[in-house]
Amino acid sequence: MRNESLTPEAVPASPVGLSPPISPVTSRHPKGALVDKFGRHVTYIRLSITDRCDFRCSYCMAEEMTFLPRAQVLTLEECLRIAGTFVDLGVTKVRVTGGEPLVRHNAIWLLERIAGLSGLKELVITTNGSQLDRFAAALRAAGVRRINVSLDTLRSQRFREITRVGDLAKVLRGLDAAQAAGFERLKLNTVMMRGVNDDELIDLVQFAVDRAIDIAFIEEMPLGDIGHARQSTYFGSEEALARLQTRFVLLPSTETTGGPARYWRIPGTSTRVGFIAPHSHNFCDTCNRVRITARGELYPCLGNNDAGKLLPLLRAYPSDDGPLRAAIVRTLGIKAKGHDFGNQMSTPQVVRFMSMTGG
Ligand code: SAM
Ligand code: SF4
Repeated sequence: MRNESLTPEAVPASPVGLSPPISPVTSRHPKGALVDKFGRHVTYIRLSITDRCDFRCSYCMAEEMTFLPRAQVLTLEECLRIAGTFVDLGVTKVRVTGGEPLVRHNAIWLLERIAGLSGLKELVITTNGSQLDRFAAALRAAGVRRINVSLDTLRSQRFREITRVGDLAKVLRGLDAAQAAGFERLKLNTVMMRGVNDDELIDLVQFAVDRAIDIAFIEEMPLGDIGHARQSTYFGSEEALARLQTRFVLLPSTETTGGPARYWRIPGTSTRVGFIAPHSHNFCDTCNRVRITARGELYPCLGNNDAGKLLPLLRAYPSDDGPLRAAIVRTLGIKAKGHDFGNQMSTPQVVRFMSMTGG
């Protein structure tokens, strides 16, 4: 039986020798088994390590949120076991997300261990930046290579309105700390919203250029009932690109960071400007990723409700990864060909909030 007093939640950061046993590759599901019925190889997982967050962004959450009871959330050891099993099956990139991953106690413990998984090429994290001033150096030391920081505005009052509770100055201090910590790349993620922040797209790109970092603009997706319709604030990538071209020369680039963004370069700068356009440029044909929620559900497609439940298997078979591997491969079999958000902006068909699936 596991000694609860030795779980990473209960000990200081960086405990030694506490990694859970990951059983050897004995299953009939070998490395490279993660191919769906449309021939797409899954090499990338997005792992949400908490549904909790210290912000309440208006496009992501309802104002009053009920979070999961702790017993229904993956322990850090279970997160590691899931990551390890996926890497054994051929996944090479893990993004840790949330909710806000850095509000999870001992997140660094987990990140250090995921970074050490044999076969993993890239560990990255998406954060709202609120805790980065405290954790940037530790994240770099843990082996995180790239960080995405969500930033929708450069104006404090507006930041407070969008996040409902956030403090822009703290996030900017976090960004400074991340730049000082020497990550391979930093990227800003900006959700575009008409009448909310579309007048700042140029300023945000200039901010990225001044800091020599990347920026990606995201079309708002209809995930979860946030208490208001989204059609009126939807702002598409084509319009954003046209607006940016009034100020910057943007050259299309074939570069990819392994995600869905399409990139443009601004000559004379190191900044890449990306667009994540799930509405206007559906990227499903080349989808290489799946998502795991904080309660251990495996969602093969962000835009569909079909999922496999991994948590019961983790707990029923604490030292045998065979059933877990089989469930992962089986769930990949239901990966949808694609999603269509077009008709869902007023009434979302995907009922879970983005904070559950982690973006
Ligand atoms: N809390 C972290 C953060 O904000 O970066 C990580 C989790 S958050 C769910 C991941 C990303 O999803 C963020 O960049 C956020 O802006 C984006 N996001 C949340 N809700 C969204 C929505 N409805 N449509 C598009 N992007 C969304
Ligand atoms: Fe929290 Fe990120 Fe959702 Fe904002 S987008 S509420 S920071 S999980």
